[in-house]
Amino acid sequence: MSGAAPKDVALQCRCGAVRGIAHGVTPEIGNHCVCYCDDCQAFIKFLGRTADVLDANGGTDIFQLSPARIEFTAGRERVACVRLTPKGLARWYASCCNTPIGNTMATPGVPFVGLVRAFAPEPTGNAFGPIRTRVFRQFATGDRAAIPPNVQPQWRMLLRVLRLMLGWRLRGDHKRSPFFDAATGAPLAAPRVLTTSEREALR
Ligand SMILES: [Zn+2]
Ligand SMILES: [Zn+2]
Repeated sequence: MSGAAPKDVALQCRCGAVRGIAHGVTPEIGNHCVCYCDDCQAFIKFLGRTADVLDANGGTDIFQLSPARIEFTAGRERVACVRLTPKGLARWYASCCNTPIGNTMATPGVPFVGLVRAFAPEPTGNAFGPIRTRVFRQFATGDRAAIPPNVQPQWRMLLRVLRLMLGWRLRGDHKRSPFFDAATGAPLAAPRVLTTSEREALR
């Protein structure tokens, strides 16, 4: 298999205040998927962006990659973080215009970010490749029969992502995340944890 040439993908929130680059992207360095899970839907609902970010079945288009490939070039101070539950993922967004950025673990030890496609609005020249897998279909809204079949089964996708993540960790990418301070592990922005009632309002 001949790999695609790596591309630097421009990242930008809707208003343009928060900008960045995803460096050296090819379909092979990450995992292009759509997630229908209720938490991803709740996050986009929290941001008030369901109409333009979610697909017809409530899915979020995500490219999972090493956070070491992400660089913020403008508006870092506008990057905010929310957690739907005290144990939930850290969900990052641009507070200027409520554009979702991505999802990470709440601590930097596991280098992983699910970059939300809405933060990469420019045509990427197919840098992310085709969608491999559509996960958590049981939470999909609308006509589920209209959801395309998976190119790769969900279990195989998970194995592949785990293998990628292990490689990122071994290469020290957890110390090169723009979402956490390399020395202290402190998050770029303190996460706001939703209250139970706030969370319920998003279901
Ligand atoms: Zn913005
Ligand atoms: Zn999800």
